[in-house]
Amino acid sequence: MDISANVRRLQEHVARACERAGRSPKEVTIVGVIKTVPVEAIREAFLAGIRQFGENRVQEAAEKKPHFVDIAPMMIWRMVGHLQGNKVKRAVEVFDSIDSVDSTKLAKLLNANARTKMPVLIEVNILGETTKTGFPPSEVPGIIEELASMPNLNVHGLMGIAPLTEDKKQIRFVFQQLQQLRQRLGLAELSMGMSSDYEIAIEEGATMIRIGRAIFGERVK
Ligand SMILES: *Cc1c(COP(=O)(O)O)cnc(C)c1O
Repeated sequence: MDISANVRRLQEHVARACERAGRSPKEVTIVGVIKTVPVEAIREAFLAGIRQFGENRVQEAAEKKPHFVDIAPMMIWRMVGHLQGNKVKRAVEVFDSIDSVDSTKLAKLLNANARTKMPVLIEVNILGETTKTGFPPSEVPGIIEELASMPNLNVHGLMGIAPLTEDKKQIRFVFQQLQQLRQRLGLAELSMGMSSDYEIAIEEGATMIRIGRAIFGERVK
């Protein structure tokens, strides 16, 4: 697995998608999703230029982090998976951002446990898929307002996951809905797009793409 070659290829694809959309590649941050990925591979990705890393388990991130003390100030750790209430205390210590706020209960717990203003993204479930968490789009304006009154949270934007389908039109529709919502709410960040659909996400306005397999190969576990 040549991770640096993968990162270079990915960066080229990102640049081309940006060009198609009339955007600057500087507007799109690649978040390397490192669930099940060994620390050696994470370091290779760092050396290839990846600076932001996404995990979906608090424990996994907590175990990996001590391996990177030498480069810690340059790394940003993002929680991208469903966060359970009993893991919040640890999560605010381990992560620099919680990208998957999917309930007001979780927001309240984060606000109560965060020591500094914790950046968060609101997870939106555009199609109301039962396999996914996240707020229905109609609830998001109210949620943003509610979170604005929580002093230890800072809402940076929205996060969404496209449906698992070959139907590119449906994927694009979901990304368009997320982008419209972000624009309507005047939020800075929009985390959407994974290895199979990040080019569509960039064309539709993603500011962060979450990439696992296209950098690290197929997950073993
Ligand atoms: C695993 C995961 C990704 C990355 O998926 P790939 O298809 O490997 O790029 C992105 N976002 C979330 C929330 C994930 O759990």
